[in-house]
Amino acid sequence: MKPTQRLKLLATVFCFATFLLLACNGTGNGKIKTPDSDTSINHPHADTLLSDNEVKAEAPDAISKMEQGYALPRHTENLAQSPINIISGKTDKAGSEKITLLFHSDITVAENLGHTVELEFKEGSSCTVNGKDYASRQFHFHTPSEHLVDGVTFPMEMHIVNVLHDSANVSKDAYLVVAVLFKIGAENKFLKEFLDKIPTREGDKSALKTGEVKFDDLISQFTNNEFKSYYTYKGSLTTPPFTESVQWIILKHVVEASEDQIMTIEKMEGNNARHVQAINDRKIYSQ
Ligand SMILES: [Zn+2]
Repeated sequence: MKPTQRLKLLATVFCFATFLLLACNGTGNGKIKTPDSDTSINHPHADTLLSDNEVKAEAPDAISKMEQGYALPRHTENLAQSPINIISGKTDKAGSEKITLLFHSDITVAENLGHTVELEFKEGSSCTVNGKDYASRQFHFHTPSEHLVDGVTFPMEMHIVNVLHDSANVSKDAYLVVAVLFKIGAENKFLKEFLDKIPTREGDKSALKTGEVKFDDLISQFTNNEFKSYYTYKGSLTTPPFTESVQWIILKHVVEASEDQIMTIEKMEGNNARHVQAINDRKIYSQ
């Protein structure tokens, strides 16, 4: 071997060894943080708190995720967003509060909003939870479900939106949203009452006669005990402006509807489920 050849070989070996060292450092004992290794209390949402459903800001698709409505922890103030994936084994036992849902059942308008199918309650409809009075405004649908339970998506989720009566407190717990999950099964009597009354054209409304759609026909699909069985947590609206003033109640009893019924709604609104958001340090209660 000529001296120049030997030099070349040495240089190659040196380069290779350096590469190996760097590569090892990157994947081995380097300073990679794990969720347990940082006890910093100054930055409770520092980059060590990577948890369920979290999207990293540095992920290649972070921008498009943000456009899809993800909140990016550490980069936004939004740390209590909805929906979430409820891990039933990680819930806390709820207190002794009882949900008393006292709905006035008159539903007056069925609306095709394009992004969702919505029905409005007659003014004066209300619901009471833990002694707080809420005005029942409307209910609408998401296909598929927005909330997941133990990672499972359901074909449809209904949101019953109620607003706190006391307007002085609008910034705090202003909304109470009751979520009903649907699975494919028998035809649903309640849905049948209005599915053919939803205008097919986007933006159209149709007036409903009193008693034509009976909310009690949904309520009666739950036994008393099933109505007391729910997950609850504090979160946000799942559409802009994603306001974090929502008390969520997700009823555990899953209601049946026929595939045709769910498809009818899905055809009108498309996929309108926001992606699950990071739970962060919130508690999810189970009752
Ligand atoms: Zn909704």
